[in-house]
Order: sequence, then C-alpha cells, then structure tokens
Amino acid sequence: MKIREMHITPIAIVDPPLLNAAGLHAPYALRIIIELITDNNISGISEIPGSEKIRNCLEESREEITGKDPFNLTNIFKSLESKFSGVDNDIRGEQSWDQRVLTHIFSAIEVACLDIIGKETGRRISDLLGGTVREQVPFSAYLFFKHKGAGGELGFDIDPSASGWAAARQAQALDVEGIVAQGKAMREAFGFQSVKLKGGVCAPEIELECLRALHNEFGNKVPLRFDPNGVWSVETAISYGKEMEGILDYYEDPVRGREAMSRVRKALDIAIATNMCTTSFKDIPESIRIGSEDIILSDHHFWGGLRASMHLEWLCSVFGRKLSMHSNSHLGISLAAMLHLGAALKELHYAFDTHYPWQEEEVIKGGKFCFENGFISVPKGPGLGVELDKEALAKLHNNYKRCGLMHRDDEIEMQKVEPGWKFELTRW
Ligand SMILES: [Mg+2]
Repeated sequence: MKIREMHITPIAIVDPPLLNAAGLHAPYALRIIIELITDNNISGISEIPGSEKIRNCLEESREEITGKDPFNLTNIFKSLESKFSGVDNDIRGEQSWDQRVLTHIFSAIEVACLDIIGKETGRRISDLLGGTVREQVPFSAYLFFKHKGAGGELGFDIDPSASGWAAARQAQALDVEGIVAQGKAMREAFGFQSVKLKGGVCAPEIELECLRALHNEFGNKVPLRFDPNGVWSVETAISYGKEMEGILDYYEDPVRGREAMSRVRKALDIAIATNMCTTSFKDIPESIRIGSEDIILSDHHFWGGLRASMHLEWLCSVFGRKLSMHSNSHLGISLAAMLHLGAALKELHYAFDTHYPWQEEEVIKGGKFCFENGFISVPKGPGLGVELDKEALAKLHNNYKRCGLMHRDDEIEMQKVEPGWKFELTRW
C-alpha cells in the first residue's frame, strides 16, 4: 500500500471574540485539513492548527510522504525529521499555543495514516492505540471572558435570532455575572460536569471573585480548573492560590517556566497542571527533577501524534504525573482523534478540555458531535470514524481566502479593541 496523493487545505472557522492572556481571538480561527489517499483509494484525514509556516512545511513534506507505506510511520517520521529539524522549526513560542512545526506535521501525518490503517484493517484508531478502554470520553466546560459578538462576518455584532447556547455564546462576559451566566448556559446545553475558566485577562482579584462565584453556583461536585496562561508572578500565583485552595481541582500554568511552576507547586495544596512549561519529551527529565507540575495536559497536535500521547501517559504513570488534554479552537476531525485517544488511555483522571462549543461550523459529514452529560461517544466506524464533508471543506476554505489571516496573532486583534495593548510575559 502506498500514499498516492496528499491534499492540504487551509480553512478558517468562525470564532467569537474570546479573551486570553495573549489578547483576543480573531473573528476566525485557522486550521489545516490534510487528506492522504492511497493507491487502493483509501482516504485518511487529519486536522491541525493553521499557519502559513506550517502549511508551507506541509507542502514541502509532500515528497517525503507520497509513495510511502502508511503503515511505515517510523520511516516517514525519520525522513520528516531530517528534512525539518533544526533552524527555527523547534521553537514553541511564548504564547499559550505551540508553534513547533515538526510536532504539528507528525501529528497531521500520523492521524491521517492511522485513519488509513484503521480503514484497511476494519478497526478503530482507539483499537490501534492499544484497545478501547471506554466508549465515552468526558469533557469540561471552557469559560472565557469575552466581548459581545458572534465572530466571523458578524464580528462584535450578534445574530438576534439565535437561541439557546447559540445566543449565550454571543453574549458579553467581562464580569462575575457574565461568567456565571456563561457557565450556566454552557452546562445546561452540554451537561458538562467540570468547569474551566480561562484567566490571565482581568486583575487577579476579579478572576478570583469569578472562581468563588462559580464554586458557589455549581458546588463541590463540579470540579473547577483555572488557567492564567503563565502571566502571573510567583508571588501573585501563591497569594491568590492560597485563596483558591479548596475551590480549585487544578491550577493550570499560573506562572511561566518550570522553575517558577515548581515554586508555586511547593507552596500550595492544589494540583498544578501545564500545557506551557512541560511541552515535549525533552522537558520531562527537568520537570521530574524539580517537580514543576502534577498534571501534563497533552495535545496530540503538539506532542507529535496519538501514539506519542500514549507514550506520554506511560511516562506520566512512571513518574507520578497524571495526563489530561489541552485544546485550541477545533472541528470534528481533531475531536474524533481526541476521542480515540481518550478511549485508549489507561486512566482518565480529568475531563478533557475542548473549545468545541465555541464553534458552530463543521467539516465532517453529519454535522457536529453531540454531548450527553458532558460526554461524547467514540465513533464506531473504522479509523477515525468520521468522513470529510467536501462541500463544507470548500466553504471553510473560502472563509480562509476571504478573511486574510495568515497566522494567529491575538495581540493585533486586541489592539483593535484597546489601541497600544501589548502582550506581557508577566502581567500581574
Ligand atoms: Mg492552558
């Protein structure tokens, strides 16, 4: 079996004006859809975060991919590694999202190849990863401070005919009342049993007040997590962290860097999680030596694929860490991959993060996945178990061509609302 064709389609998906430590989400989030087609006409698909740099590297990787056997992943990875390692391709960046090229490309190719292997063998990807341990995967509500607006062409305007969560998603949430209303609407629509608040946006006392209000509203049975994306100082993280003991289930990247994280971790009686300080296998030795976190939030897009995430679980269990899942704005192909990983992991201690409720569009046949009590069922079909909707893909590619965005830059978007606003490594 050989890979005969490789299709790379950049897309843009409508994203509301969500705030985070890096600034503001643009009206569209960028993704890339990859389709590999074999000489016996099996199609394997994947989805990764989009940028011109990653798209160009994917284009350049075409000759390393075509003609290869999709079962021979190690050899494909070796040839990609020798082509792209070094230079500036291995730099993660200071933002909450990972910008390394190789891990993105590994993930894109691995998931598409596993989709092909699953279809060829009639097995689900979760089976290929070691077996399906569970048929449903839990997700957490993901709350954001946000401006009023629906994103996309509406930008900061809203569609007044929207109802239910589609209406709530458009509402402003810049204070305690807004955040609690958003949390209630999201839980009512999707049944989430854990709640995350994205922080690093307002002054720490306001964010603490929001967490207290969410805890009061939902009670002890709804675990709360909070993520200021590393923009708090060690002193701020510890003094506010003391107030969060007994409220938070975990405290995610309160500060920047493993050393600072380990200081905060030692000072507090709260589990510390990261998707920013321990982000690759080469970080693990120091992470263990200095004790920088309790929970590693993997992301198959950023750790080099689903099999790498399975290896990470094994390493985590050896060293007393727990594993859960980070998320960026995404559609159903990424979600399907997350579901297969969630199905195959030995233990699930925490509900996965997902931005999925913030998006209304979809690129797979049959429309969006449904949540039931905060869980999504693992697709039943072979491979990923989802099929590319070519019409939807063309529409989302049109979004990409029209929106003019080439990479994610939340600082520039923020400056449209607050002229002169600057991203700071440590804000509070
Ligand atoms: Mg995070």
